[in-house]
Amino acid sequence: MVERIGIIGAGQMGGGIAHVAALARIAVRLVDVKTEALKHGLKTIEGNLGRQVARSKLAEADAKAALGRISTGTDLSFLGDCEAVIECATENITVKQDILRQAGKSLPPDVLMLTNTSSISITMLATASGRPERFMGMHFMNPVPMMQLVELVRGIATDEATFQTVHALALKLGKTPVVAMDFPGFIVNRILLPMINEAVYALHEGVGSVESIDTAMKLGANHPMGPLALADFIGLDTCLAIMQVLHHDLGDTKYRPCPLLAKYVEAGWLGRKAQRGFYDYRGETPVPERARLR
Ligand code: NAD
Repeated sequence: MVERIGIIGAGQMGGGIAHVAALARIAVRLVDVKTEALKHGLKTIEGNLGRQVARSKLAEADAKAALGRISTGTDLSFLGDCEAVIECATENITVKQDILRQAGKSLPPDVLMLTNTSSISITMLATASGRPERFMGMHFMNPVPMMQLVELVRGIATDEATFQTVHALALKLGKTPVVAMDFPGFIVNRILLPMINEAVYALHEGVGSVESIDTAMKLGANHPMGPLALADFIGLDTCLAIMQVLHHDLGDTKYRPCPLLAKYVEAGWLGRKAQRGFYDYRGETPVPERARLR
């Protein structure tokens, strides 16, 4: 049973996992290379817990206790007493391999190593960890406190004890696990990201405006959120990185990332986390950006 969890990367996902783990009475060690990210991550968790209290979904004392279970650091050695460590850093193969190589060397050999990657091969990352039997994918959805699903992805060498421990951890966090095979994008992103990419192509080609594309998919396909708003929510850098993995690893041109998506990323317009993406979030309400880059 996991009672202490280490999280590497204090962004949207690392922070969200820290939030639910702390509420499940698990001690959390949160690590990031940037102290700024740790400060911002903690502030976001505090704000989100506060919102749950305000909506009477959580007692104030429980929120306070959860926050007290989260400690932060900038060095991987800080994670040495955890039973499991989950890597939640930027969706970049080299970044993840470097982290896992370092963590694999510095953590005791019995510590389980997990990754929240959205698309990268679990088996390849397992090799970097140096402990492929005790490594697997645990793919949460964003925002973690709200979304029910966790995809569990074994690498080719993942052992049964690791799978069972991670399955139990998913249940302890109040999530519903689904098993996916180790193929690019697993289940959700294999299906979701090509749709988002197609929405960006529709914008790029002038088929519709930001507003009309999102309204069409909300009212015409009954999606709770339009694909461009969802892309902003996920992060446009993450969306692009996932499409690049699908394109490269599956070798099919149908996964070619839309050039307009790449332009937004080049501009640093990464969506909500940068306050600017397909929508501009700097004012009171999100305003659709014009697709000037067509
Ligand atoms: P993010 O950009 O919000 O956060 C990434 C964090 O990683 C940043 O705080 C960054 O400082 C940190 N980081 C970078 N290099 C590091 C290093 N060497 N050591 C420690 N920390 C480092 O990204 P995110 O949206 O939280 O995504 C993180 C991971 O979760 C990615 O693999 C992504 O594919 C996956 N994921 C994202 C979503 C989503 O909707 N955003 C959903 C499921 C899974």
